[in-house]
Amino acid sequence: MFFQVTPRSRYIEVIAKGREGVVVFPTYVPGSYLIRELERNLVEIEGVRISKNKFYVKGTFRYLVYASSKDQREAISTDDYLFINPPAVFPFSEVNEKYCVKLSLPSSWKVATTLRQEGDAFCADNYHDFADSPIEASPNLKLIEVDDMHVISTIDDVDVEIVRKVVGEADKVIQPSRKYVFHFRRSDKNFGGIEHRDSSAIVVPWNREELAILFAHEYFHRLNVKELYPADLRHNYEREVYTDLLWFSEGFTDYFAVKVAVRSGAIERKKGLERVLSALHSLTFPGAKRVSLAESSRTAWIKYYRQDENFLNSSVSYYDGGLALAFYADAKAQRGIEECFKTLRERSRGGAFTFDLLDKAMRELGFEELELAYKPAREILEAIREELGLEVVDEGKEYYGLVLEGNRVKFVEDGSPADRAGLLPDDQIVAVNGTSAPLRGEAEVLLLREGRVKRTKLSPGRNPGHSLRLKLTGKVAEKVFMGEVEGEYKSNVI
Ligand SMILES: [Zn+2]
Repeated sequence: MFFQVTPRSRYIEVIAKGREGVVVFPTYVPGSYLIRELERNLVEIEGVRISKNKFYVKGTFRYLVYASSKDQREAISTDDYLFINPPAVFPFSEVNEKYCVKLSLPSSWKVATTLRQEGDAFCADNYHDFADSPIEASPNLKLIEVDDMHVISTIDDVDVEIVRKVVGEADKVIQPSRKYVFHFRRSDKNFGGIEHRDSSAIVVPWNREELAILFAHEYFHRLNVKELYPADLRHNYEREVYTDLLWFSEGFTDYFAVKVAVRSGAIERKKGLERVLSALHSLTFPGAKRVSLAESSRTAWIKYYRQDENFLNSSVSYYDGGLALAFYADAKAQRGIEECFKTLRERSRGGAFTFDLLDKAMRELGFEELELAYKPAREILEAIREELGLEVVDEGKEYYGLVLEGNRVKFVEDGSPADRAGLLPDDQIVAVNGTSAPLRGEAEVLLLREGRVKRTKLSPGRNPGHSLRLKLTGKVAEKVFMGEVEGEYKSNVI
């Protein structure tokens, strides 16, 4: 298919040319496990609607897409900026045919994409490659060479030295053979990144400091997810696909991002350990006793990507749990666990691997507990406590089991005193023992719930433990963080 694109503020107009027949608009973008109903952005189309995202069209048809996404997972069109994640704008008819796009832009605009240039069009040999190559354009676009293999495409400023350090360290494992583009954009409202084979799109708040970890995470995906991927993760653009292994694809990637950032000198050891502790913190909640990393991977579409106020009771983040398991494995294995990627490269089927292959690869490195991924995630925390001396510093101390945001209840821990007293997320604590003092000891609490005043008694109970401290020394510290390091994570649960 061929697409002629004319962007304008908030909209993208497309003239599509192909064969008469059915075209399909994807319902989600690969790499982001949420049915986004991307076709909701269609505002005009020449064709007969068959279903929510399928149309019968003539050989040539025109359509108009609303393009006002907040992040780089969809499409953004303004009078001086264009970003297209192709599945958000372009339909497919036959996946295995050539797709090209031509952009009608003023001559002052610059374009960045990893699509192959053919004359005045950008092309890919099939829809998978086409969908995996975002397009960014602006008169203000800067193409900053990190080195001869990596480019940053951005309208903002970025610390190139940090990216250079991170990429240099990550490439020791990745050993890339193709060029790579970082599409980078600042936003005071949004945050996120999404990986592609030869690029990534990163949106980050202006004040965000830990750019190194974010860049490293998205970059490491070119190996873990794009080159090597769970055998059952086959995208079809219309329905959810399930895998047990997102904890490896995302969590291990998160761990390597931290390790690479520390090793490259982009962040201090202490910062790296704090990130590990923050991941371990999320395993201290009831959800981690109920759910394994494998299950939380499978439910990504309905739990992690649609988190509600009860998430920490009902599930566990496969990012945090996977990071914790990777950290534990790296500390216990005889050799650095990045070596498992060598084995996967040699023995996977064209990049597709299973848990069994992964387990074998890790056993060869001297780590025999990968099955923790199929047990309640809390067991990973217990193993780290036992084997690496993790301290749970607030265990047994007085607590209510609440997270507050100002005076508003944000989270109620299952089985806690707050739970027993009947507090709900969104309750507002108006007074404690008739005063504006903070919660302490036995408390007569005045609540505001949906505009109604309510009185309840809150007695502190024993904290199951949420705040963590860890000191790494000796061989383990050397292997993981290149030296001794000590850190603490103070929980916001009171
Ligand atoms: Zn990721």
